[in-house]
Amino acid sequence: MDIFCKIINGEIPSYKLYEDEQVLVFLDINPNALGHTLIIPKKHYLDIYDINNETLIHIMEIARKIGKLLEEKLNADGLTIAQNNGIAEEVKHYHLHLIPQYKEKQKTLSVEEVYNILTK
Ligand code: AMP
Repeated sequence: MDIFCKIINGEIPSYKLYEDEQVLVFLDINPNALGHTLIIPKKHYLDIYDINNETLIHIMEIARKIGKLLEEKLNADGLTIAQNNGIAEEVKHYHLHLIPQYKEKQKTLSVEEVYNILTK
């Protein structure tokens, strides 16, 4: 079982920001930027070629909402949305990266500190 299925099953903890019947949204444990977030489908899909259109559309709707939340709460100036496939995909379970972008260099905060800012 891949690590994201284990997070969905509650076998591994995560800094969860949002959840519904179809998706789970949580902070990336090894962030590229402050507030780096992942959206995953609860049902296992490998990649962009495997996932169905309906789930993909839902993930994009959630990306818009969570992206706005990240920008507002972290005072970000932009947002990169990325998704890796094939050899570029380290965890073999579809996941969309939301990576906030900042004009100024940000001070380093732990994932837990970022989580506290986002959820208070
Ligand atoms: P990718 O290269 O697109 O497969 O990226 C996988 C991402 O998953 C990386 O950014 C990792 O830091 C992240 N990651 C791996 N394990 C965990 C975990 N247990 N909790 C949160 N993020 C994780």
